[in-house]
Amino acid sequence: MAIASVGLTYWPQSKALADDRIWGYGDNNGPKQWSQLTPQYALCQTGTRQSPIDLQAEATIEPITVEIHYQPTPLTILHTGQTIQLVVDNASYLSLDNRDYSLQQVHFHHPSEHTLFGKPFPMEMHFVHADAANHLVVLSVFLKEGPENIELRPIWRTMPSQKTPAQVISNVQVDLEHLLPQGRRCFRYDGSLTTPPCSEIVQWIIFQDAIAISSTQLKAFASLFPTNARSVQPLNQRSVLQSL
Ligand SMILES: [Zn+2]
Repeated sequence: MAIASVGLTYWPQSKALADDRIWGYGDNNGPKQWSQLTPQYALCQTGTRQSPIDLQAEATIEPITVEIHYQPTPLTILHTGQTIQLVVDNASYLSLDNRDYSLQQVHFHHPSEHTLFGKPFPMEMHFVHADAANHLVVLSVFLKEGPENIELRPIWRTMPSQKTPAQVISNVQVDLEHLLPQGRRCFRYDGSLTTPPCSEIVQWIIFQDAIAISSTQLKAFASLFPTNARSVQPLNQRSVLQSL
């Protein structure tokens, strides 16, 4: 096919080539192909501390102290091509082991990436935090089907249907703390980004209790992203902690 395309105008040709190399969740650029798209994504194949994982009942019981300090934030939203993302640019942060990590962004996966006792949830939400040295803490919340989620309503109403730069939605604030479950039991383990380059730099905190989202809300997200989740990875030698 390369010969047939010689002589075509540059624009469609170069755009098609670039798109082929952008990771995603399709047949040709999905998780099984990530490591072949560019050598920079090799860890997606060779890593031994990868995410997501299945969270099992035999996790080690241990106190996990996470202090969450979230502020209401103006709604700044974008479609990255792979998910819907909220950009957070305020004083929201969490403390873990007496270290502060500032909240950078929030995004969504459909279906969930982590599984709980072998079962996936309809969706999963990731709150991505970083310290000055770019150590990451990702706080994860499962979404289950139930009543409409009022807090998600302005996000769902404004989520772009195609890839776009970030847009600030005027006069709309999101209170991110309202997107966390009431129960604060959680799991903790060391893993990776669940997207390329799959860097093994993430401390994961996953709440055991899910928050609710309506079937209409689920369908709206699924129509934009039929699948944008990586499947579970081997635990290997890692331990998983679970708080009571
Ligand atoms: Zn994620």
